[in-house]
Amino acid sequence: MKPVRVGLVGIGKIARDQHIPALRANPAFVLAACASRNAKVDGILNFPTIEDMLAAGQEIDAVAICTPPQFHYEAAKLALGKGKHVLLEKPPCTTTLQLAHLAELANAAKRTLFQTWHSQHAHGVAPAQRWLKRRKVRGVRVTWKEDVRQWHPGQTWIWQAGGFGIFDPGINAISILSEIMPEPFFVESAHLYVASNHEAPIAAEMSFRTDSGAEIKAAFDFRHTGVQTWDIDVDTDAGAIRLSAGGGKLTIGDELVPADAGALENEYESIYRHFADLIERGRCDVDARPLQLVADIFLLAKRSIVEPFED
Ligand code: NAP
Repeated sequence: MKPVRVGLVGIGKIARDQHIPALRANPAFVLAACASRNAKVDGILNFPTIEDMLAAGQEIDAVAICTPPQFHYEAAKLALGKGKHVLLEKPPCTTTLQLAHLAELANAAKRTLFQTWHSQHAHGVAPAQRWLKRRKVRGVRVTWKEDVRQWHPGQTWIWQAGGFGIFDPGINAISILSEIMPEPFFVESAHLYVASNHEAPIAAEMSFRTDSGAEIKAAFDFRHTGVQTWDIDVDTDAGAIRLSAGGGKLTIGDELVPADAGALENEYESIYRHFADLIERGRCDVDARPLQLVADIFLLAKRSIVEPFED
């Protein structure tokens, strides 16, 4: 297969930290152009907007969208409309129906839409899913607490409507849960905490219930300082397991489980390997469940306004 020429949209933290290195390390891809209002990437064509990039006649086969989520839908729609394959960062869209519509557009255009959940590619997730498949889950506790000042400095979009607030990282936990849990689970109750100077929540507590009655309790908080915590503890009929480091480490009992043979170094290398494979096979990969669960949380949640938060 000829290398897929990629146009990268939204050159910010995740584009620079992960997408550009993963693209440059994978011979299945060539980074052909970028579209970003302020940033530029050396050595390739740079455009201020995706519209300019798509109109310029620059040869591009695929577009990877790394803007804030409020701008994912329009960018993905434009790219699919021009016959490009699309890789979409998480959270995929700001409403569930936008994502459903993008999937329809991709199918109609016979182009690949890969709507990514990077945490599902973390090393502990696949082994945890296989192990849990054969067990009865009794209860789950999710603790996703990080210091927003450390991880999202200057990202004002995160606090605005459609920016997801604490669910920007929290949806990663939910994406892991939806991958590893051996049976369906649904939101039972939720409490959102919204700082009085922001629109999107700064913290959340949730309870989910599996079809067979096990409770999943989750606590997310952006105000956390000290040791950063991205843990999922699962109690089963065969003992306890812990996924820590955002899905990166699986411990069963006291034993650390090694990564699967053939697992790539990091989540984004794995994402781009899968994208190349999807394009070659003419397939899409869209998993709406994490976004649907977050939407259900917002539907059911009680809300409390808390003191203003300056980041
Ligand atoms: P970021 O650092 O703020 O970068 C996003 C870039 O998008 C900006 O630098 C900006 O570049 C461009 N952009 C275009 N329209 C924009 C607008 N109206 N407002 C603000 N920026 C706009 O954000 P990020 O951390 O890279 O996150 C981007 C996406 O990746 C989000 O969906 C996020 O959830 C996801 N993600 C982030 C991480 C992470 O660790 N940061 C990890 C995984 C996934 P210009 O100003 O040059 O246009």
